Amino acid sequence: MKVLIDVDLCTGCGLCEETCPDIFKLNEDDDVAEITKNDYDENDEECIEEAIESCPTEAIITE
Ligand code: SF4
Repeated sequence: MKVLIDVDLCTGCGLCEETCPDIFKLNEDDDVAEITKNDYDENDEECIEEAIESCPTEAIITE
């Protein structure tokens, strides 16, 4: 699984970081989310799914 943030859609609301602090982090310079981890276990994948559902702008993309 690969996770990406569409920076054009991300509003920097911080919900993904609150949901999965090990995986998402707000970049304080440009106020968009970044991915801080690239190797995911089952718990991470569940958390990512939760973050995708809670993202208000559908800015989290998985491949
Ligand atoms: S929840 Fe969505 S809009 Fe909010 S910071 Fe994360 S990626 Fe950006």
